[in-house]
Amino acid sequence: AAKDGGRGAYRFYEADMHSRASERQALENDLREALNRNELFLVYQPVINVASETISGFEALVRWKHPVHGMISPELFIGIAEEAGLITQIGEWILRSACTQLAQWPSDIRVAVNVSTVQFATGNLPLVLTNALAANKVKPSQLELEITESVFLDESESNIETFNRIKRLGVRLALDDFGTGYSALGYLKKVPFDKIKIDQSFVRGATQRGSMNSAIIASIVSLANALKMDTTAEGAETLDELDLVRQLGCSHIQGYIYGKPMPGDQASALLESKGRKVEAQGFRTNREK
Ligand code: C2E
Ligand code: MG
Ligand code: MG
Ligand code: MG
Repeated sequence: AAKDGGRGAYRFYEADMHSRASERQALENDLREALNRNELFLVYQPVINVASETISGFEALVRWKHPVHGMISPELFIGIAEEAGLITQIGEWILRSACTQLAQWPSDIRVAVNVSTVQFATGNLPLVLTNALAANKVKPSQLELEITESVFLDESESNIETFNRIKRLGVRLALDDFGTGYSALGYLKKVPFDKIKIDQSFVRGATQRGSMNSAIIASIVSLANALKMDTTAEGAETLDELDLVRQLGCSHIQGYIYGKPMPGDQASALLESKGRKVEAQGFRTNREK
């Protein structure tokens, strides 16, 4: 611990904490301006239907190109946006942008959008969705919302009612990062999810000898099948991982093996090529990469 290093070390530790806090404060200030300055944009990662081996849609993922620090991970700035009270505004922009992009794609292509549990809990999503869909003339069934299971969202009446209202609009619901969170099974019982996304921590390394991951994936798939939900295996990087999740019966796959997140125009080009067929591009094992 810091105090074992004596007074000097303790002060150093404190200074370090202070600079980190002010760094975060600086980022928060920059994030307030990021939307106006057009520094946020969406990229799209293909989601592949296993049965047809074609692109069924994309997951929209937000990016922030900071003028000084370059690309900043959503894993960092979404948390800052949540704490700073900026997530509702940013989240609405993300939804509208995704719908604008969807309007340019064939009507059987689906886009999944991540929604922060903080934004979700405000309860205003049904209204935001109704407006964004209508403004872009997008069918509700083309949009899927991903709610992460790794952040606590209480099973209050009002949250469950928000889920049901979104579902009644015809928008699809997916439970993201399944297996990493707090209340997985309770959620599945109370919320009408259409899809379970199997967290990449189960997919990666699932082919290694002695790994329990493939047993876990198999049981998630059988649970999803029983509940009539789709499953997406996230984060398949190698041909071995791809083979495995196919064998285990996942209905969809999303991972670097098929494609990384890309700008919208590149995603459009991909859709127009080869009848939406995509080939797995990769290696047998992680080691060969
Ligand atoms: P997520 O929703 O689980 O998104 C999947 C993440 O895994 C993405 O990282 C994606 O690029 C990455 N990924 C996909 N396939 C592979 C693979 O084969 N290998 C590896 N190593 N990674 C893979 P990204 O874009 O950095 O997003 C990280 C997280 O940030 C997301 O996890 C999501 O929780 C959050 N996030 C991203 N975009 C948004 C957004 O628009 N709104 C909100 N609220 N959160 C977002
Ligand atoms: Mg997601
Ligand atoms: Mg995920
Ligand atoms: Mg994740």
